[in-house]
Amino acid sequence: MTAATNEYPTKAYGATSPDSGVGPMDITRRGLRDDDVLIDISHCGICHSDLHSARNDWGFTKYPIVPGHEIVGIVSAVGDSVTRHKIGDRVAIGCMVDACMECHHCESDLEQYCQNGGMTGTYNGTDRQDGSKTFGGYSERIVAREEFVLIVPDALPMAQAAPLLCAGITSYSPLRTWKVGPGSKVAVAGLGGLGHMGVKLAAAMGAEVTVLSRSESKREDAERLGAHAFLNTTDKAAMKAKSAYFDMVLNTIPVRHDVAPYLHLLRIDGVQVLVGMIDKMPEMHTGVLLGRKVLTGSGIGGLAETQEMLDFCAEKGILPDIETIKMQDIEAAYDRMEVSDIKYRFVIDMGSLKEG
Ligand code: NAP
Ligand code: ZN
Repeated sequence: MTAATNEYPTKAYGATSPDSGVGPMDITRRGLRDDDVLIDISHCGICHSDLHSARNDWGFTKYPIVPGHEIVGIVSAVGDSVTRHKIGDRVAIGCMVDACMECHHCESDLEQYCQNGGMTGTYNGTDRQDGSKTFGGYSERIVAREEFVLIVPDALPMAQAAPLLCAGITSYSPLRTWKVGPGSKVAVAGLGGLGHMGVKLAAAMGAEVTVLSRSESKREDAERLGAHAFLNTTDKAAMKAKSAYFDMVLNTIPVRHDVAPYLHLLRIDGVQVLVGMIDKMPEMHTGVLLGRKVLTGSGIGGLAETQEMLDFCAEKGILPDIETIKMQDIEAAYDRMEVSDIKYRFVIDMGSLKEG
């Protein structure tokens, strides 16, 4: 800590332009406000959104950017009025670090849909008080308002807890919203970070789960992860055989694609939830919706629901399948992620930052 400002000089990894790659960067974390918590980050998961953001796939990245919103670590200092957390606690931060907390959505525990300017993203966001840029978890430490700091249950190992903060909650929230339970037939499209959590969570909720994937090589994994069936989406006859079968398709595919074939799989009032961020959709004839199909989207989950999900995973022993990497290997990890060569979530061991 620098005595003059109480700020925290912090080692990080970030990008300075779409083609700079993600490399070492020095940032400053703010001195603690009364309601702030300082966290020494032990691990950070790698979400496909990090890759989209670092490379400006969506066109709204403000450089420099430090990605990372699957953050776990240990509390190392607290502001004067903090009551929820104390030094030494195992804690986590997901995709948001602030919201207005007063609008209808915030008051309904849906801070991710804050009506006053939207949630403040953990990275590529703007601090609501001082207008500074927010920087994410590819860094030694982070400062955040205490309400946005979740508790990591003791039963969850730190490295495996990390992906729950985005991949976990983004799958969990729609499953809860559309009341998935015993008797539900759920299909998960795209078996990656979000998808494999969707399979584990839906199965734990008692649903019959089917994986929809282009990758025949994932057929055996699907069963091991808890799915009851595997459907190769390139097999037109197999897709046709499941017409009007599912209550929900949780679509995690991260690129532009035709969503109509997945709507055909839904029964009446069935719902396809897009969680993948695919920019524009290809044109689709609206006739496909007339069988009373619902096409919608879902963004992460609120704070209370995120804590509920962490507790649910601890209670049921649900853990992501992870591959731990060093911070220095981030670009290779992105390249592998881009070609779906990951089973099923990279997690950065933040101790590696000390190596340079
Ligand atoms: P990921 O680990 O890369 O997994 C995506 C999976 O989609 C791949 O494993 C692959 O599965 C499938 N896929 C990839 N390319 C495809 C293609 N060209 N055509 C068809 N399928 C393809 O990604 P992730 O981290 O799970 O993220 C998924 C998406 O969710 C991203 O767009 C991310 O930005 C978004 N996201 C949204 C939210 C939210 O709040 N809504 C939160 C987090 C992430 P198969 O090999 O099985 O086909
Ligand atoms: Zn994410």
